[in-house]
Amino acid sequence: MACTDPVRLCLDWHVRPHLAHAVLEENGDRVRARCPSCGTRRTLTVSAGKDARLTWNCFQCERPELRGALIAAGVPSRCIPLSRSDERDVLAAVTAAAEQGTPADRAQTLLRVYLIALGYARWPQGAELEKLAGCCGVSRAQAYAARKAGALMTSPGTPST
Ligand SMILES: [Zn+2]
Ligand SMILES: [Zn+2]
Repeated sequence: MACTDPVRLCLDWHVRPHLAHAVLEENGDRVRARCPSCGTRRTLTVSAGKDARLTWNCFQCERPELRGALIAAGVPSRCIPLSRSDERDVLAAVTAAAEQGTPADRAQTLLRVYLIALGYARWPQGAELEKLAGCCGVSRAQAYAARKAGALMTSPGTPST
């Protein structure tokens, strides 16, 4: 369910407080901040798009990973929904990951499905992985075991960037 607050309020209230060195620009239509994914200052922009949705971009990051990093930083996933075209790819990858699960690794399957649903194509790094595992109730040990078990996506259907 996407955020229902007006997009500029969403940007100021739901997004800006979670980002480091965040500055409102363009009369409140854009936030510029340090990128939570690559850590570079002032390379991340989150903007109120014409269709009343937020768009986000970092000069140095691939978009699927960036969305996950924003969510790990505390930005609600409903405020930065996937685009329609990304949604289709992600849905196919989520379905494949769920079907590949076994009774013995349900926690790992849940984590895979959650991360792929967030837009990840590869396992996130330590702190980000732990934070996101916590978001779906998977323990740190299970998260690292899952990462060790193999690539995040084992089938074709990597979300397009
Ligand atoms: Zn919002
Ligand atoms: Zn970045």
